[in-house]
Amino acid sequence: MKKVMLITGGSRGIGAATARLAGAQGYAVAVNYVRDRGAAELVATDIMKAGGYAYVVPGDVSREADVAAIFEIVDRELGPLTALVNNAGILEMQSRLDAMDAARLQRVFATNVTGAFLCAREAVRRMSSLYGGGGGAIVNVSSGAARVGSPGEYIDYAATKGALDTMTIGLAKEVATEGIRVNGVRAGFIYTDIHALGGEPDRVERVKDLVPMKRGGQPGEVAAAILWLLSDEASYVTGSFIDVTGGR
Ligand code: NAP
Repeated sequence: MKKVMLITGGSRGIGAATARLAGAQGYAVAVNYVRDRGAAELVATDIMKAGGYAYVVPGDVSREADVAAIFEIVDRELGPLTALVNNAGILEMQSRLDAMDAARLQRVFATNVTGAFLCAREAVRRMSSLYGGGGGAIVNVSSGAARVGSPGEYIDYAATKGALDTMTIGLAKEVATEGIRVNGVRAGFIYTDIHALGGEPDRVERVKDLVPMKRGGQPGEVAAAILWLLSDEASYVTGSFIDVTGGR
């Protein structure tokens, strides 16, 4: 069966590393982005140059109409979806909870939670044997923050990842007999642009000594875990998590 993957937020960081690895492993890859088309095109070009297939798909996962459009493009341009990586995620300026307003909470939950739910819904409608689909696998990109809570930085972000982990557990059970596996990867401190959103681009350098391995992680190290969970090697694995956190 042709392997077709949608990676939300596939244009930068962990998503881009996952897209490149997926392309090298023979997936046709839909590289989603919301703002930076150039970055998404760079990833797609790299995949094509390496002999793979990639297609750039714009859309904001927090908007239901955009999600519908994203999946319609994937149906049309790549064929039946077999793998979804719910990777798109944001955080906002480091802050205590007592300084957070409702607008901020809505933005962070809309992308990190609602976006992942909407994409999972569309994937299930395509993959599930209930709907005549051929099965597939979903990986939710979570964070060690779900376990530690990120005090003084972004408890809101950490809580969105807690919600995502709960969705992983529930959805894995809900669709276990329908040919779909659902798993999570909890990333630790990884060198990407996301830390700049919190106001501290070099955050990994500051916090890396909290990690038992005393270093930050690379996006490719997270991508490898995602690809394994999606692969047939993980055929009896669902509702599980891999912590890619250097032991933290
Ligand atoms: P990143 O470098 O900031 O990249 C984020 C990606 O998500 C970009 O491709 C961005 O697209 C896309 N995106 C953002 N909002 C979106 C939306 N509403 N709809 C569609 N795409 C959207 O982030 P990253 O560090 O690779 O993070 C990827 C995932 O790993 C996130 O879920 C994050 O929470 C998780 N994670 C990261 C770390 C870490 O230390 N880096 C640790 C734990 C978990 P544009 O370029 O178009 O904006």
